[in-house]
Amino acid sequence: MRTKTNLPNALYIHIPFCESLCDYCDFIKLQYFHSFAEKYLVALKKELDERVNNKEIRTIYIGGGTPTSLDNKQFETLLKMVEPYSEKIEEYTIEANPESLSLSKIKLLKKYGVNRVSIGVESTNDQILKSINRKHTFSDVKKVVNDLRDNGINNINLDLIIGLPNVSFNMLEEDIKNILSLKPNHVSCYSLTVHEHTVFYINKISEPDEEFAYQAYKVIDDLLEKHGYSHYEVSNWAIPGQESKHNLVYWNNQRYYGIGLGASGYIDNIRYKNSTSFKEYISFKNETEEEIVNLEDEKDYELMLKLRTKFGLNMVEYKNKFDVDLYKAHKQVIDDYVTQGYLINKNNYLIPTFKGMMILDKIYLDLQ
Ligand code: SF4
Repeated sequence: MRTKTNLPNALYIHIPFCESLCDYCDFIKLQYFHSFAEKYLVALKKELDERVNNKEIRTIYIGGGTPTSLDNKQFETLLKMVEPYSEKIEEYTIEANPESLSLSKIKLLKKYGVNRVSIGVESTNDQILKSINRKHTFSDVKKVVNDLRDNGINNINLDLIIGLPNVSFNMLEEDIKNILSLKPNHVSCYSLTVHEHTVFYINKISEPDEEFAYQAYKVIDDLLEKHGYSHYEVSNWAIPGQESKHNLVYWNNQRYYGIGLGASGYIDNIRYKNSTSFKEYISFKNETEEEIVNLEDEKDYELMLKLRTKFGLNMVEYKNKFDVDLYKAHKQVIDDYVTQGYLINKNNYLIPTFKGMMILDKIYLDLQ
């Protein structure tokens, strides 16, 4: 039976609209139109009311798309809809693009208790931004960060993309220095992935190869660590104690609600994914795909997810949960990874090093 203690207390909400579509993007998104957004918010409220049966939510993350592409009235409708779930909130994040986070929207964020903003910076070089069809400049980013702080929202994440065309290591270093000048609490750097059906794919732009990605992450890691940021997950750095609480729910293999077009969630022993058809979603025909997670699957998720962070995998907990002594079962493999500097085996925790984080897929396969 589902009790209050095993209800998810994390909530993800997807807003799929963007003012313009970026050349590399494969997220679930569509061009913003006022009338589409009106219909979407009605369907979203219905799903929220029906699915989320816990009002004591600890972390909320509104992502997209671009949540800030909604007009002011719709933006307030969204925040008001979420308000009943945010009374016990610890971390309430919204994703924003610099050009659409106006002062009036910042004031609404403050009013409704949003306490963390994740800004899609992608590059700090205006020419590169233009070449990938982003509509902001680095000055816009600086202005938004100042406006947020002036209005009492101090927990800020800045996102960058690694491996964009024509970005050299020197430019990447410049990016990180520019990011550091804004003193964010948290920095995310994702390696470019080129998906089918994107402009990048059509233009035959290639993804960075493994060696480039490794060197790029090294450049970033060295600079950020030098300035007090800790590399706590493959693509994420934070001032210690300011890691993303919401994303740690995913990496700790905990339960969460996912609401909105194409959103994923994990409730009880079911991982689900909502319909990705906008037409279906706004007609209240949200056909979800479901995966029933048995103990064996849970074991794999636990290994795959917990090895992503510097908090590591607790092998005693793992044994209690799955009756598998990971160290005994893979002694030679683990010892080799430790000797070669990919893993740390300390106080019953298995923790990836920087090198280990770069080859997690291989480690995961070797420990299965
Ligand atoms: S703004 Fe974000 S979600 Fe929208 S198209 Fe660009 S990368 Fe994709």
